[in-house]
Amino acid sequence: MATEESEIIIEVKHLSRSFGKKEALKDVTLQVPKGQVFGLVGENGAGKTTLIQHLMGAYKAKMGSVRVFGIDPVYDPTAVLSRIGYLSEDRDLPGWMRVGELMRYMKAFYPKWDDTYAARLRDEFSLDERAKIRNLSRGEKAKLGLLVAQAHRPELLLLDEPSSGLDAVARLDILAAVVKSVAEEGRTVLFSSHLLDEVERVADHVGMIHEGRLVVDMSMEALKETHHKYVVRWQTPQPAIPELPGVLHAAGDGKEWRILCEGSGQRFHQAVFATAGEIVEAGVPTLEQIFIARVTG
Ligand code: ATP
Repeated sequence: MATEESEIIIEVKHLSRSFGKKEALKDVTLQVPKGQVFGLVGENGAGKTTLIQHLMGAYKAKMGSVRVFGIDPVYDPTAVLSRIGYLSEDRDLPGWMRVGELMRYMKAFYPKWDDTYAARLRDEFSLDERAKIRNLSRGEKAKLGLLVAQAHRPELLLLDEPSSGLDAVARLDILAAVVKSVAEEGRTVLFSSHLLDEVERVADHVGMIHEGRLVVDMSMEALKETHHKYVVRWQTPQPAIPELPGVLHAAGDGKEWRILCEGSGQRFHQAVFATAGEIVEAGVPTLEQIFIARVTG
């Protein structure tokens, strides 16, 4: 029997999706276990929203399969959606309602809606119950969207660009709220973002999606352990960098090259030594540097 730690909340297998000639998802396979904060990163148009829409059951998997809580969300949407908190990229909030009205309205849909928790989130986000939604700032709308997504204490939070359009302070608020809810209740979160510094701070697992393909699917820890950045110097100018293992990106002016690579650091050191080069700087790249190196080469 599966232990609680190994319970799989999201399971996507060989999912492909095309819109006309556009291949939005290409053979995507991923698993998200219970309690994980999964950060889905990718450029505009990479396929993040399309993947989230499949998890919500808005799109039927034509190729491959999608299971959330072990259920096909298209086959049994109620069973899946009642356990999900969802924040859409464009927030989808009724502008004509007041904050308090929306809270009461949403409560009617969710038997597990928790008034005390909703009020706490409203206070934490400094949202005025009487404010008209159309008059809220983008940041306040994102916070209200997050309140509505969380107040029924869902087992899975799906957040599409939760902090898009927010300033740095509001972004920290949103992130803090997500992390807190996960830590408190062992919830699972999948969120998409193109803000790599934010993903680096919050996610414990990273999925990088590039032109519809999942090019990286790794824990943040493993990602940091397996990627390295170096400055390497040679005595004589090198027209191109010598053959070295695991190089993802290199830029330089002949004698000195900045290199980002993956794999064993020791192997890289030995290979540089064999070419009579010298490592003058070594460090751990940021998620942003890894992403750029992987998608631009
Ligand atoms: P962004 O960060 O800009 O929101 P994304 O990673 O969420 O991007 P998607 O919205 O999933 O990307 O789009 C992936 C690709 O599929 C894009 O090229 C987009 O134009 C296309 N696409 C998505 N939905 C549709 C649709 N309903 N009809 C036609 N093309 C679509």
